[in-house]
Amino acid sequence: MNDYIWLLPPAHVSSSGDVMSLMDFNNHRCMSFPGPAEDGIALLGAMDGERTEREIVQLQNGADLLRVLEDQELIVRLQRPLSTVLSGRVWASRQLAYYAQLTRQHPDRCLDALSKVRVAIIGLGGIGMQAAQALAGAGVGGVILSDFDTVDASNLNRQFMFAIDDIGRLKVEVAQDFLAARHPHLEIEVHAINPFEQESSQWERADLFLFCGETHLAGDANQLITHKPVIQAGYIGPQGLVGPLRWVERGTPCHSCTVRASEQYADFYANEVELATSWNCSGATVNGLMGNILAEAATRVFTPWLGEVLGRDEIIYVDMKTLEMRRELTQQQVECPHQIPSSA
Ligand SMILES: [Zn+2]
Repeated sequence: MNDYIWLLPPAHVSSSGDVMSLMDFNNHRCMSFPGPAEDGIALLGAMDGERTEREIVQLQNGADLLRVLEDQELIVRLQRPLSTVLSGRVWASRQLAYYAQLTRQHPDRCLDALSKVRVAIIGLGGIGMQAAQALAGAGVGGVILSDFDTVDASNLNRQFMFAIDDIGRLKVEVAQDFLAARHPHLEIEVHAINPFEQESSQWERADLFLFCGETHLAGDANQLITHKPVIQAGYIGPQGLVGPLRWVERGTPCHSCTVRASEQYADFYANEVELATSWNCSGATVNGLMGNILAEAATRVFTPWLGEVLGRDEIIYVDMKTLEMRRELTQQQVECPHQIPSSA
């Protein structure tokens, strides 16, 4: 009875004399309620996230309408008044409405949980920067950006934080400016040196690592990340991939052992010779899409109420050629001394 009652947005209401109608586009249905319509609309207006269930049921016909709408899965329950949840963060209104579509029971927990989270993003290419923007909008409290590269003209097809005037500047600095201009709530920390040459203590504050590209380097990373969740993302030609999520506390092998187990080409890469026109095939669309899927998977690590954790022991593939998406369990056998047996 102490939950705050919020009519699931978006709610489309129409009034015609004695009848009030409510359109639910998600389920392609329209419900009509006998009038007078003004009374019904006033009741719906009271379900604005500022009143408790106890207050709503005391209104005339309030209990009946609430029961019907609850049966139709059109009521969101909040732990606190909507205005308190948003507390002046207008951007968060749309994000909260998104979470409410995924869970109607206390979606405000998602914003609360994410606001305490710091995500380390290793590699600020097309995927990493897209993930950074999406996570800032999703409500994470902080990002730690790691890249020692400078902006190059060849980045501009897909790395939308950068402009021509930024060429030659450190990527992390441009990204910091870009994010700070849009997300004043966001704590931003930047590192412009090789993350694997950095003291582990520098990474203690990170709650999750996203490895975006350069994944064959990541085998050296165990001193940083053995016990924290890690998600890898990248692409091979037109095929994007996110995963696997490695999280020893949830029973998976660690990321470093996973990468080492697949290092059959380590000698090859160690002695690789660069050819002038053999550049990576980095499409704008595949980068942005995989960055957003990666960000969705990252938020799920901290918001179990939204559904399953994405990418655990699997790789999510999107083939841009056919727009097919598939999820495949990882087959690779990984020996990891850090692994914690899990019944989950
Ligand atoms: Zn391990």
